Amino acid sequence: MSLIIERIPAFTDNYFWLFHQPGERAALVVDPGDAAPVEAALARHNLDLAGMLVTHHHADHIGGIGALLRGRDIPVYGPASIAQVTQPVAEGDSLNLAGTRFNVMAVPGHTLNHIAFFAPVEPLIFCGDTLFAGGCGRLFEGTPQQMWQSLSRIAALPAETRVYCAHEYTESNLRFACAVEPDNTALQNRAKAVHQLRLSGEATVPSTLAEELATNPFLRAGNDAVRQAAMEHAGQSLADTAEVFRVIRQWKDQF
Ligand code: ZN
Ligand code: FE
Repeated sequence: MSLIIERIPAFTDNYFWLFHQPGERAALVVDPGDAAPVEAALARHNLDLAGMLVTHHHADHIGGIGALLRGRDIPVYGPASIAQVTQPVAEGDSLNLAGTRFNVMAVPGHTLNHIAFFAPVEPLIFCGDTLFAGGCGRLFEGTPQQMWQSLSRIAALPAETRVYCAHEYTESNLRFACAVEPDNTALQNRAKAVHQLRLSGEATVPSTLAEELATNPFLRAGNDAVRQAAMEHAGQSLADTAEVFRVIRQWKDQF
């Protein structure tokens, strides 16, 4: 049976994800940057917190762990470098959470110790601040090569994979994407649809990997139109796909 996943909006644009099996009260939360909205969601849906998953060390992803652990003896899965993590996990590890197998992927770039949790039977991925709907995370610690490699591994997952990222950045991401690829029809259509959703206050996450492959410039660095736009922006020829990625990531930072 497939997981039930509740979206918990927090701060200005974060999403925490709360998941459980249908009919089961034991739930796990991904990237709980703040305890209060998680407690409220648990109460609203009549769920018990059974564990936490964290993708990386930024405060908006771990800030709620301490308060959520108070009065609860539950595991915290995440990178070994995070002090609050009780069950360190790394590339190649496989976890059984809420009756579902999750494979841990190392996806350095946004941070060096960033991980993602991929559930092949759903399929879905909790990817934190690595892949965003229409964009990707900033490179705070890793190199463009590392991030490109991480995104390429995510891109190789099944196209129907649902992408549960940690921020509602889609509309501004797609505005940039349209500047890179003005002639991409799938992108124009997605940008319009996302604009309408945001006007009515609706979330645009999760997306699917198929949508990202068709419209997200950071997964499309190997595409001719994206390469061409990057070369024009950089004013030089770019042979290597990771170089194309580096240029569009820099371009977005200044956009
Ligand atoms: Zn982050
Ligand atoms: Fe974040």
